[in-house]
Amino acid sequence: MLGTALVNPASYATPVVAEPGSAVTQQKSAGKLVDNPFAHASKLAYQYPAFDQIKNTHYAPAFSEGMRQHGLEIVAIANNPAAPTFENTVIAMERAGQMLNRVSTVFFSLTAANTNPTLESLSRDLAPKLAAHQDQIFLNARLFQRISKLYEVRQALKLDAESQRLLERYYTDFVRAGAKLGDKDKQKLKSLNAQLASLSTKFNQNVLKETNASAIVVDSKAELQGLSEEEIASAAEAAKARGLKDKFVIPLMNTTGQPFEASLANRALRQRLHEASVNRGSHGGEFDNRQVAIDLARLRADRATLLGYANHAAYGLEDETAKTTTAVNKMLSELAPAAVNNARAEGAELQKIIDAQQGNFKLAAWDWAFYTEQLRKAKYSFDDSQLRPYFELKNVLENGVFFAATKLYGITFKERTDLPVYHPSVKVYEIFDTDGKSMALFIADMYARDTKRGGAWMNAYVEQSSLFGTKPVIANHLNIPQPPAGQPTLLTFDEVRTAFHEFGHALHGLFSNVKYPRFSGTNVPRDFVEYPSQVNEMWATWPEVLKNYAKHYQNTQVIPQSLVDKITAANKFNQGFATTEYLAASLLDQRWHQLTPAQIPKDALAFEAEALKQAGVDFAPVPPRYRSTYFSHIFGGGYSAGYYAYLWSEVLDAESVEWFKENGGLNRKNGDWFRQQLLSKGGSMDPLESFRNFRGREPKIEPLLIRRGLQKQ
Ligand SMILES: [Zn+2]
Repeated sequence: MLGTALVNPASYATPVVAEPGSAVTQQKSAGKLVDNPFAHASKLAYQYPAFDQIKNTHYAPAFSEGMRQHGLEIVAIANNPAAPTFENTVIAMERAGQMLNRVSTVFFSLTAANTNPTLESLSRDLAPKLAAHQDQIFLNARLFQRISKLYEVRQALKLDAESQRLLERYYTDFVRAGAKLGDKDKQKLKSLNAQLASLSTKFNQNVLKETNASAIVVDSKAELQGLSEEEIASAAEAAKARGLKDKFVIPLMNTTGQPFEASLANRALRQRLHEASVNRGSHGGEFDNRQVAIDLARLRADRATLLGYANHAAYGLEDETAKTTTAVNKMLSELAPAAVNNARAEGAELQKIIDAQQGNFKLAAWDWAFYTEQLRKAKYSFDDSQLRPYFELKNVLENGVFFAATKLYGITFKERTDLPVYHPSVKVYEIFDTDGKSMALFIADMYARDTKRGGAWMNAYVEQSSLFGTKPVIANHLNIPQPPAGQPTLLTFDEVRTAFHEFGHALHGLFSNVKYPRFSGTNVPRDFVEYPSQVNEMWATWPEVLKNYAKHYQNTQVIPQSLVDKITAANKFNQGFATTEYLAASLLDQRWHQLTPAQIPKDALAFEAEALKQAGVDFAPVPPRYRSTYFSHIFGGGYSAGYYAYLWSEVLDAESVEWFKENGGLNRKNGDWFRQQLLSKGGSMDPLESFRNFRGREPKIEPLLIRRGLQKQ
């Protein structure tokens, strides 16, 4: 997934130079934040954050001063006696709020990647204040008047295409934020936004705490049969870290399915692990999210009504490439029956194995991964543990992910050990363009820890913008379990694929070549943003790439071709499951967000069960990838009514993979074309137009259907 640090980072755009005579210049001389690292752009290369200088105590004053400065700048723009021009209004807004942007970027990155109780408490405190601050801008009537005036005469302004798009974008942002509402409704909206901000922060914090608290404690090693010695050692260390003597701890990952379900032979323990996972946030206690989810759905429905939309999804989708709930519902409902049929057929095969082994029980959700692994072994004669010795982290990253990027785009990488990091396991690389010139920094934060949100994501610490002359500083975050001290980090193939995926987002940020920060890199619709990252996954199994990184960590022998063939052949394996669990989560997301205020349920779990049943995806052995009470993408982050986006983007992804294959695959010519037509454009043009320019025609859905085994009967 993609980082969701700020709902709308662009509203806190980062200029490097303050406008002469602006409020910012005057305020800076006040000097009360002299020692605060956020008071000025970082002096480190690329304005890389000075993590070693930043203390917990710096955030609150920097936010407070940053909001004050930004507020004054906005008032100055709104009250400018001069007639509105593109420069004195729109560009001035892009330039405003630099201090707030600096502190927000670092703060929200670290509350996701390396949080602590002080940041958590500040985050709860800040959420409503930031929402109010944003409202103060978007509901400023004078400011909207200036933007409207420019918008009305936009053709006559003779702006270049990107500037014209920026003006239109600002106008739309204001309208969608309620600028056309009357005063009373504006007050109502402000209150809704503040409550929403607080509640979604609470939802996320509950998920993180509940996930840590739900880790499974195991008393004896015997129960862990099926895990490798390294995994058992990790579980023992995890127990030690929690002060538990002679025990083992299995931490939870944020998805419903848990990795160890694939290998734990003890069925009762698998069940315990699975139930701990699915019950997160819905069994009482202080981290219960049932009511939080309901309240969030209600507030969003109320806000949509106030803004004149049928529901929250209609409001959200208008701004996506999908445009309407009808389009999204159509895709989900067309794919659901085929996916569930495939999953049922896969389930029947698993049941056969259980029966053949005289298991004497009916396949349950906690059996799926375990018997799927057996089937995988039988069908393709390999299992994940055979692969892992070939997937050592540093090799995967430097000789796989980076290698593919060098082959495609001609960029090169060099580790920088001179820049400060916020955690000792984080690495920084400098990236050089084809001509050898320095172009960006890349931060690799690969390991799981209790202070880190689950899942994987990318975010930008500094966005590329020619207006400000900034080059990108981009980070990838994964959650690879830390091996016991002295052991190598060996990845599962899923983790390898995730590393390639996240770097695909990174490339979108790194190759950005736009003028305005509002359009930089991944500032594109959500249902488009997963597309470049998914395309990049294709290189994980590309023979030339695979042979370069998949080397045994002990004897550096290249992964045998037979094993490579099996990985490729196994790609379509278990797709009924994968598509169903994903579609179920996407459907839940749509159901929650297509409610009107009057339809908000009282019981979150009953609503969820009914929604899955109605959509025909209530197949118990395949629960949704996330259940409502720990579905942070939609209740805690920026993917509300947007979880479908992964599949929507996959249509373009599957098309692009075909294109690369048709044109000779991994070479500079193909890479340069993709970079030039697509990756460099960010949001500076209509994303589907950039796709058409790249592909040479409209997208077709067939490659996706074939890939997922969902061909229409
Ligand atoms: Zn992603």
